Amino acid sequence: MQYKRSSALFAQAEKVIPGGVNSPVRAFGAVGGSPIFIKKAHGPYLIDADDNTYIDYINSWGPMILGHAYPPVVDAVIEKTKLGTSFGTPTEIETKIAELAVSMVPNIDKIRFVNSGTEACMSAVRLARGFTGKDKIIKFAGCYHGHSDSFLIQAGSGAVTFGAPNSPGVTQGTAKDTLLATYNDLESVRTLLNANKDEIACIIVEPVAGNMGCIPPKGNFLEGLRALCTEHNILLIFDEVMTGFRLTKGGVQQLLGVAADIVCFGKVIGGGLPVGAFAAREEIMNYLAPIGPVYQAGTLSGNPLAMAAGLAMLEALNADNAVYNRLEEKTAYLHKGMAMALEKHRVVHTINRIGSMISVHFSKTPVVDFKSAAEGNNDTFKAFFHGMLKEGIYIAPSAFETWFITDALSYEDLDKTIEAVNVVAASL
Ligand SMILES: *Cc1c(COP(=O)(O)O)cnc(C)c1O
Repeated sequence: MQYKRSSALFAQAEKVIPGGVNSPVRAFGAVGGSPIFIKKAHGPYLIDADDNTYIDYINSWGPMILGHAYPPVVDAVIEKTKLGTSFGTPTEIETKIAELAVSMVPNIDKIRFVNSGTEACMSAVRLARGFTGKDKIIKFAGCYHGHSDSFLIQAGSGAVTFGAPNSPGVTQGTAKDTLLATYNDLESVRTLLNANKDEIACIIVEPVAGNMGCIPPKGNFLEGLRALCTEHNILLIFDEVMTGFRLTKGGVQQLLGVAADIVCFGKVIGGGLPVGAFAAREEIMNYLAPIGPVYQAGTLSGNPLAMAAGLAMLEALNADNAVYNRLEEKTAYLHKGMAMALEKHRVVHTINRIGSMISVHFSKTPVVDFKSAAEGNNDTFKAFFHGMLKEGIYIAPSAFETWFITDALSYEDLDKTIEAVNVVAASL
């Protein structure tokens, strides 16, 4: 493979865009090398600026669950575009997608659309604070909820009492209101609750974690969070930006039968356009402006093109009762094939999977939280990433990312991927 044009485009981009990218992970910082510029995609395939073709396991970080340039989504956007691209007024299609989302997802009566997952999580936390009249929030180390200040927090020296900024520009004042717990560890949550009695507005969690690789919740972790929240009058926020409409029609609430108070969406709900949303029962959502006191707004929120893409995507998923089973079967097939290839070449690994989310960790201990995810061998990951790329397989350029399986993948594509793992594993 040749990357002449991508390298040139990157050099040009670096002059006018910080690091040459509009989102840091795209820069290949964790794996080294120069990022690949994609010019088009269809189904499960990406084509780069040098005309190399790849089987794609990023799928725009989740939205492309039915493949790239999925015709119903493309057609819906083209048709809408001809009617004007934004009015700043209510439009009928917003109600249509809202009705459909509310019918697919359990425990929500109303939903509000925003432009990104970050906005959804940021707004959900503000709503939880307004609704409960409390200031502090609990999040879990390694869970990602977008880049708003309250979430860019790491464990501080007083880890059990409050967090510290993990980016310059986040103030100590903000950091002190975000408390950090350990994923899959209810005891760490109880400790925080005891030390901050009656001060916690919400617990926000990825109900299946996907931003430290894929980490499913253990045994009664989510049920335990639900019980603690109910007991202490705290709102439980499921950040389903990644899992919503991906693991089942109704997300993790439906898959694992645990109810959240507020649910955040992004990625799949926009069908590849910039969309996020947050939703809850009526009593909570009515706390939002214009009928309630909590302010939240957006010039392009509910944009007709974005809603057309999202609606076409949700309609396709809603109409296809077999889609989640097919995704599960394809992912399980890939899991089994990759595990056999890695074992054959004695590569130390752990594969985590749930539904159509899967991640390969180069460590032998179970990966259950941020600490165990960080123990993977990053040199092996780098070699694996570049080896796979050479074989025409595009996986996320970081060991902390989940791979997303699309229904557009054929078993032939999966076999090619497994064969590539076989070739790469032999060289590790
Ligand atoms: C991607 C992601 C976000 C942020 O969404 P953006 O659209 O990138 O702002 C938030 N939470 C989770 C769980 C995500 O995976």
